[in-house]
Amino acid sequence: MRELISKVVMLGSQAVGKTSVILRLKGSRFDKHVSPTIGASYCACKVNLGHMEVKMQVWDTAGQERFRAMAPLYYRNTNAAILVYDITSYSSFVDLKSWVEELNGNVDNPLVLCLLGNKHDLEDRREVPTEEAFNFAASIGAVFQETSAYQNTGVEEAFYEVAVRISRLC
Ligand code: GDP
Ligand code: MG
Repeated sequence: MRELISKVVMLGSQAVGKTSVILRLKGSRFDKHVSPTIGASYCACKVNLGHMEVKMQVWDTAGQERFRAMAPLYYRNTNAAILVYDITSYSSFVDLKSWVEELNGNVDNPLVLCLLGNKHDLEDRREVPTEEAFNFAASIGAVFQETSAYQNTGVEEAFYEVAVRISRLC
């Protein structure tokens, strides 16, 4: 079977659930080694598309997202970016606009984008309407999915779709 190796970066404000989402990826194993040059670590996971296996190195931040900027090395050779916000925090959704700008400033190659509205289990505290997020995703050509890392819903579906788009890109 054809095998594709890709790099995926997680972006979004602190505490939206980026690390929790990664820990839900099937077959994920975290590389505990944190790169001293990038200050980030990655998790290896794979998605089987039938005709092809997409291996993803999913890079996670180590807290430096609180400075609202990542080292340029974090973005090098990236094939996809997962933009995460918390549905109970409108500001975490607004923050994504600056993350998209930072992404565009650091990556010139074609990219698969995915917008994740995490903490879907906290519906009673929702601040971000689904429709507004859906429209934002459409405006940047991103896959859109509401997820709950807590209840483990939506994560597999979103990464499957990202793998499909990566396979079309590469
Ligand atoms: P990060 O800073 O973006 O990596 O966020 P973390 O993964 O560290 O999560 C921040 C906090 O949100 C932790 O207390 C998590 O347990 C919590 N959290 C993450 N995902 C969910 C979710 O889907 N639902 C709920 N209720 N809490 C979550
Ligand atoms: Mg984290």
